[in-house]
Amino acid sequence: MNPPLRPGTLAVHAGEPRTKAHHALATPIVQTATYTFRDSAELVAYMAGETEREEYGRYGNPTVRVVEEKVAALEGAEDAVAFASGMAAVTTAILALVRSGTHVVLFSDCYRRTRQFVTTVLDRFGVTHTLVAPGDLGALEAALRPETKLVVSEAPTNPYQNVVDLAALAAIARPRRIRTLVDTTFATPMNLRACEHGIDLVVHSATKYLGGHNDVLAGVVAGSAALVSLVRDMRHVLGGVCDPHAAYLVARGLKTLALRVARHNATGLALARALEADARVRRVWYPGLASHPSHAVAARYMSGFGGVVTFELATDLAGARRYLDALTLPRIAPSLGGVESLVESVALMSYYELSTEQRAAVGITDALIRYAAGVEDTEDVVSDALAALDSVASAPRA
Ligand code: PLP
Repeated sequence: MNPPLRPGTLAVHAGEPRTKAHHALATPIVQTATYTFRDSAELVAYMAGETEREEYGRYGNPTVRVVEEKVAALEGAEDAVAFASGMAAVTTAILALVRSGTHVVLFSDCYRRTRQFVTTVLDRFGVTHTLVAPGDLGALEAALRPETKLVVSEAPTNPYQNVVDLAALAAIARPRRIRTLVDTTFATPMNLRACEHGIDLVVHSATKYLGGHNDVLAGVVAGSAALVSLVRDMRHVLGGVCDPHAAYLVARGLKTLALRVARHNATGLALARALEADARVRRVWYPGLASHPSHAVAARYMSGFGGVVTFELATDLAGARRYLDALTLPRIAPSLGGVESLVESVALMSYYELSTEQRAAVGITDALIRYAAGVEDTEDVVSDALAALDSVASAPRA
């Protein structure tokens, strides 16, 4: 018997039918909204569950299915379901698991739109919540109530890249029949497979590393066949389906995921180390650094630590802006995980509407930078990031 296929091989071959339409090698884009029945007999046989096939675009598409099968294989999960965006994946999965009267526990450093969905949208429909401090499993346990049905987390989180102890989280939730949903967008299945540690559902913004080219929005949820089926049924109702052309781009991106993530990991680590060694940087958060609060947990669960490096410059907002402008390689843009390096001021993007004081109260300082390394040569990324530090010191402080 052949040994199980490794992730780089699965990324290329999983979900790809051996024989495709017109003997094509590449994944065909089945750009159709609906599917035809030859005659009423075929329709009746399908409705009676005697044949498996596509019926209507919101319920399934062969190009989208390739993405779903690839991600399921990479996550070591029974099934996966794809969406039009990461947020469609997050919101549809959560809605599949809650009802009025349910209580949800959410780690407070989850992606702000996920937090907004739970704390403001679900709240309007009688779903209550408790926010707990990043990775604090004691606080999580204390927050549980008889009506708690779901715990939502991310690993690593944004921007400080905390990694929760996944097996310990599952050990708290499972005996109480509480579902766990973890967004591992920052890790990718190449670095972290949360289902293998007892997590029920894994969510990705495929817009990031899975698609990998900053050219498509998509999302995926993976887990047991039973839970994914619930999420899929909810997708049928809410309609946030992945478009076939978007699915083609994600499937194509996935084929090189192992290669790309290896580069992201190498550059992320080299960049984090170089920045940590420079006095013009106050602090670096990268789970691969021994100085990161989650390092021990991250090292237990992750085989690499990704391309995102968060750091605080020894300057103020004006100095941080000078730094962004002095960088020559990365573009200033939200998002991460694509081939191009991107950089953002956390204060000016995600927390723009807050004052310096309000930002400080939620732990975001003005000189905080999130650098999402792409797949350029590591040496070029690091030397550009260090050279730009001259701008921080050279101009007078405001
Ligand atoms: N989850 C995480 C961790 C994210 O960073 C993002 C987007 O930034 C999302 C989900 C939402 O994904 P999308 O932008 O594809 O809707």
